[in-house]
Amino acid sequence: MALEDMRSPIESGCPDGFQYMHPTMRKNFGQWKYHEHPKPGVLLHVAHSGDEIWTVKCGTQRILDVYSLRTLMDIGDKFADGYVRFTLRSNIEYMVTKEAQVEPLIKAITDAGFIVGGTANSVAMMSHTQGWLHCDIPGTDASGVVKAMMDELIDEFKECNMPNRVHITTSCCQINCGGQGDIAINVQHTKPPKINHDLVANVCERPTVVARCPVAAIRPAMVNGRPSLEVDEKKCICCGACFPPCPPMQINDPENSKLAVWVGGNHSNARSKPSFQKLVAAGVPNNPPRWPEATAIVKRILKEYKEGAKDWERINDWIDRIGWPRFFEVTGLPFTKYHIDNWRGARNSLNASTHIRF
Ligand code: SF4
Ligand code: SF4
Repeated sequence: MALEDMRSPIESGCPDGFQYMHPTMRKNFGQWKYHEHPKPGVLLHVAHSGDEIWTVKCGTQRILDVYSLRTLMDIGDKFADGYVRFTLRSNIEYMVTKEAQVEPLIKAITDAGFIVGGTANSVAMMSHTQGWLHCDIPGTDASGVVKAMMDELIDEFKECNMPNRVHITTSCCQINCGGQGDIAINVQHTKPPKINHDLVANVCERPTVVARCPVAAIRPAMVNGRPSLEVDEKKCICCGACFPPCPPMQINDPENSKLAVWVGGNHSNARSKPSFQKLVAAGVPNNPPRWPEATAIVKRILKEYKEGAKDWERINDWIDRIGWPRFFEVTGLPFTKYHIDNWRGARNSLNASTHIRF
């Protein structure tokens, strides 16, 4: 086929973000002189050209209904310059070019029932994976945990009273794409999957399921004359990875699917190296609709961090300085055998580096 006869490719994926950027931001791209943080929830960026952008950050619940979304967009059209952007932590940011526009914009946001904050050394909006709605492995409603906890942490979102920024994450399964955070609330299954043998042959591709298990605990088996699977329960680490390719291996359970709280995860290498989070509370009841037990633990950790950390210390820096024994002492969390990672197979088979392996 001659080159001129070939059709141009159909682009898919994310559209170019530049077309949606505030014009002042586009004009000064890469030409910013400095930025300031005039008050909680507001950022000021000044360009070499003298242009200014005032950003007002507003917390949202991430899974937005059409009504809320329209309300937020109307505010943007009326009180900002008609441009918004969503941040990774489900905040919506409005950008304006004049200081005089900031207060009317904040008033419109708060009058509509939303909150302004989440900048600098505040507790930023909790991030969560929304698998409850679309993924195939959720063990809990992560969005519900976020709502219940942020209701209690609303003042920490609106003010900047923490030693440094605090990122809290939740995830709806134990394998979790929502993981790392200064504090993370993750699902913890405590019992191996229960297999519905009548369904396995019709629903599951058995080699895929066997290959999915990180500890080789699943074997093909014949049960009642039909091809099925069996689990070596001594090896099983209750991760839930076999459930997505084989829903008859049910692992979610209102009694035995718990929450676990982890602390000290940090992707950034701005001041110290990135760090993995560590388990500090296991077997916490997964107790909807308000999750009081998990919320109490998070609040206790935040209180001690706020009182004990030096300025600019993230939670992992604070714990590194005071040491883990002291962390458990001040937070009053019990240190149990579940905090000790004694699974030696991890040395050979788990990804312990930042390199991705397949
Ligand atoms: S945390 Fe797990 S269940 Fe939730 S979206 Fe991510 S992979 Fe899916
Ligand atoms: S829960 Fe995890 S460890 Fe247990 S059998 Fe399934 S994949 Fe293997």
